[in-house]
Amino acid sequence: SRKTRPTVKECVDGILNGDRVLLSRAITLIESQLSEDNQLARQIIEKIMPHTGNSIRIGITGVPGVGKSTFIESFGSFLVEHGHKLAVLAIDPSSKKSGGSILGDKTRMDTLSKSNNAFIRPSSAGASLGGVANKTRETLLLCEAAGYDVIIIETVGVGQSEIAVHDMVDFFLLLMLAGAGDELQGIKKGIMEMADGIAITKADGDNIPVAKKAKATYQNALHLFPLAESGWTAKVVTCSALENKGVNDIWQIINDYQQVVKKNGYWQEKRSQQNLSWMYASIDHYLKTRFFDHQTIKRELQEIIGQVKNGDILPLKAANELIRIFEGNAGKA
Ligand code: GDP
Repeated sequence: SRKTRPTVKECVDGILNGDRVLLSRAITLIESQLSEDNQLARQIIEKIMPHTGNSIRIGITGVPGVGKSTFIESFGSFLVEHGHKLAVLAIDPSSKKSGGSILGDKTRMDTLSKSNNAFIRPSSAGASLGGVANKTRETLLLCEAAGYDVIIIETVGVGQSEIAVHDMVDFFLLLMLAGAGDELQGIKKGIMEMADGIAITKADGDNIPVAKKAKATYQNALHLFPLAESGWTAKVVTCSALENKGVNDIWQIINDYQQVVKKNGYWQEKRSQQNLSWMYASIDHYLKTRFFDHQTIKRELQEIIGQVKNGDILPLKAANELIRIFEGNAGKA
């Protein structure tokens, strides 16, 4: 049976006091499928808003197996040792349909998860990417209000989710494997263009020469990109999470980046743009949800899908018909 809901005031006070249990319970309200829960969450977020914004938000992406969780364990432990409070959130784009989580349910970040100054929250897979992304944004704000000054948002770089993550962070770190065939394996040029930093992972043992070579290759590739709006040129480093090497360089780069973009105004500009795109994403999500939850749409959709597949009706006409149904009695759903 479910526990009684915490009150808004309990959550707000708890979060501002850094209470992890109440922070978790508030995040559960955000992630809930029940709109009563979401409404409570929204009230909590409004109350904690003045206490948000004081963190560095770092996005980390890379293909499965590149070493994301091992890296975050090593990098995160470094940060905690240096007095930071770290929250790790994940955007898992895998749907229920595809049979579960790409980020994995394996015991991840074992050491970090035992630290009092690290808060790790895996994402709930299953909802749409837009839905998960909106929830992660809200969760990020709660973590900031709870005093976490470094927030890592992790995702798998194999789809659209890295764009969603890029949209909500200050610094975007791409993890790459060296020597796995083509140097630009599987990672779209577009993702490289979004990166503020690239870390070649697993640069240890026999891997070191090939990692160094990859570093040079990526550095050259990055020089061919047009200068970023941020005025910052992406940096490439090698690292070994297993040997805890290179993570300090990455933290240094992130701090250098902060200095540059706080000075030239890009930091604030980017956060304002992100707020705007958050607003648009929320509208998108709300309208889509209302559309597909609409009783008549639900009833008619399967049949119309069949007609479109069979070529019995033009896609545009089908869309117009559904929209007409929706607008006809949108209020009465
Ligand atoms: P993820 O799927 O991106 O989260 O990758 P994992 O962190 O689970 O790592 C995938 C595999 O690479 C695991 O077997 C790790 O032990 C290994 N690995 C991760 N980091 C390193 C590293 O720095 N050096 C070496 N040699 N192996 C690593």
